[in-house]
Amino acid sequence: MTIATDPSDPSRAARGAALEPNGVAHLPGGASHDPHAAALPARAAKLDTLAVRGGEPARHGYDAVTTPIVCSATYRFEGSSEIADHFEGRVLREEYGRYGNPTVRAAEQKISALEAADDTVLFPSGMSAITTLLLAMLKPGDHVVMTSDCYRRTRQFLRTTLAKFGVEHTLCAPGDEPALEAAMAHPRTRMLLTEAPTNPLLRVVDVPRLAQICSRYRGVKLLVDSTLASPINLRPLEHGAHLVLHSCTKYLGGHNDLLAGSVSGERDLLAALRDSRGVFGSMPDPHAAYLLIRGIKTLAVRMRRHNESSLRIARFLEQHPGIERVYHPGLASHPDHAVARRICSGFGGMISFLVRGGLDTTSRFVDGCALPIIAPSMGGVETLMEQPALMSFYELTPDQRQAIGIPENLVRLSVGLEDPEDLIEDFSQSLARL
Ligand code: PLP
Repeated sequence: MTIATDPSDPSRAARGAALEPNGVAHLPGGASHDPHAAALPARAAKLDTLAVRGGEPARHGYDAVTTPIVCSATYRFEGSSEIADHFEGRVLREEYGRYGNPTVRAAEQKISALEAADDTVLFPSGMSAITTLLLAMLKPGDHVVMTSDCYRRTRQFLRTTLAKFGVEHTLCAPGDEPALEAAMAHPRTRMLLTEAPTNPLLRVVDVPRLAQICSRYRGVKLLVDSTLASPINLRPLEHGAHLVLHSCTKYLGGHNDLLAGSVSGERDLLAALRDSRGVFGSMPDPHAAYLLIRGIKTLAVRMRRHNESSLRIARFLEQHPGIERVYHPGLASHPDHAVARRICSGFGGMISFLVRGGLDTTSRFVDGCALPIIAPSMGGVETLMEQPALMSFYELTPDQRQAIGIPENLVRLSVGLEDPEDLIEDFSQSLARL
């Protein structure tokens, strides 16, 4: 039953007449607000439109244009029949804050719209998404194949925690197909985990090819951490991946003001993951979910600018005598340029490069730049720069860093939305002073 009401009328709200069974107010004018019903016409499928309007219900509670932040730890039932309706799946509603939240669900639906996924589960960070997913999907004796150039905490989780629980893994260099085939042949392989592009060397793995290889092994899932691409540049599910993961802290959020992570994919896999999230207690905060929704609305516009500016800067760096090598998938010199052209609609906002010189010269270059902010992370409006040997890989010895492909003179740059000419001028003056 829908009762048109004024949500500002406390007497009605107090009697419960203004509330949907799911705790979201009925809309003035008699429209019933179903927070799970996406309202976008099917024909409006372009990414810019999906970023702004995708996953949004026909009408938000209180006729708000933006998604309300719902800060309820628990949700009211009007009676026992409503409880039965909930558990029997006859209504979609919230029950308790560790299992679901309307603002979090709105963010999940928006990501699903962009990734063309059945469903998405949101987490309080990218690492929370990775660890919950791997713990939910793997069991002792299972084997994971992973590409070697990847976020080091993911690798650490496999090497330490999962190894402790009897899950084995094999690392393969991106693009080394014979090594990949050999690793996949392990009889207990359950998952192929890769990043596209990889962090920090920006390798672009051939996702359709990996999906093809996976399809030869029954039950093996292809998981792509697509944080550096964002769904604007690459949609791995369209290329045959089973699951796509994001650190939404990066491009999806886009403003260096939130932490979140997401996993998108097939409904059955995601239902099990949602259940594990409730058990592990890793629900994101609705405020972070709101910021994420707000960030995603400008994702397509931001990504285009990140793509353009980073390519412009990569070309500048590549011709500069003070720079030894530039890693950017948009450059013809990049080993995966052809793959990137084939599967990506943009090359991304990240550039890694080697300064001509050693650790100290590189530090002087970084310290001599005025505009980029020295900080870890990426994907936000501010340009961030780090020397991985002195930041993300600080505690390793130079030999250990060399062994995993992190030279002392490597710089990782996340190109923000500043004018690229200002950034180029800044890099020029710092390089000139080395
Ligand atoms: N995946 C990639 C590719 C990353 O670069 C990061 C963090 O830098 C993560 C996952 C982890 O994300 P978060 O920092 O949101 O936990």
